[in-house]
Amino acid sequence: MRLLLVEDDDIVADAILRGLTAAQYSVHRVMSAEAAQAAIAHEEFALAVIDVGLPGADGLTLVRRLRSAGKSLPTLILTARCTLADKVKALDLGADDFLSKPFEAAELAARCRALMRRSSGAANGIVKLNRMSVDLSGKRLCIDEMEIDLTAREWLVLECLVRRIGQIVPKERVQQAVAPDQDITANALEVHVSRLRAKLGDAAIIRSLRGLGYRLEEMRPA
Ligand code: CA
Repeated sequence: MRLLLVEDDDIVADAILRGLTAAQYSVHRVMSAEAAQAAIAHEEFALAVIDVGLPGADGLTLVRRLRSAGKSLPTLILTARCTLADKVKALDLGADDFLSKPFEAAELAARCRALMRRSSGAANGIVKLNRMSVDLSGKRLCIDEMEIDLTAREWLVLECLVRRIGQIVPKERVQQAVAPDQDITANALEVHVSRLRAKLGDAAIIRSLRGLGYRLEEMRPA
């Protein structure tokens, strides 16, 4: 499957195209949010690399439009400045990752690979981390081949974080996943997160990032 690049600046786009082509990706480039939407309507892309600064609708508006149209393709946002507020906004809109300009081609290719690996793992239903295996369709968590018992809410927290492993998931999104029909307080959510954390032991870490949300990180083997 091809990658979609949404970037209006020719010099930046050429550099990205060279880097991704060298990493064996086939890339379709468009110059605007509108052209990106048209391309996505015609073809299924493995990933979209989207610059924030575009003529007409900007990159974040594009992400919001894709998500509200039910498109789940992974999105990597390129941005010149990346403040905390920018990140929160982009994550809330449904972006999957960011890269601040300027960046190295190798880093862009690595981020693309990671995003596509995560989304294909999630599509197969089984996400394998170092010592942990999460079967999303069978709702089973195994650590070192041993099945771990989780409550329904612990499972929902895990599922929500595993689908975006390595990325910051806003607290509101986890709250929504755990209790879509009712309000759950941040404290109540923290209780489920703490219990899940204890069950994961040292197989994975759930980090709390103040003001941003949670991030599940796999542990590298020692
Ligand atoms: Ca641009």
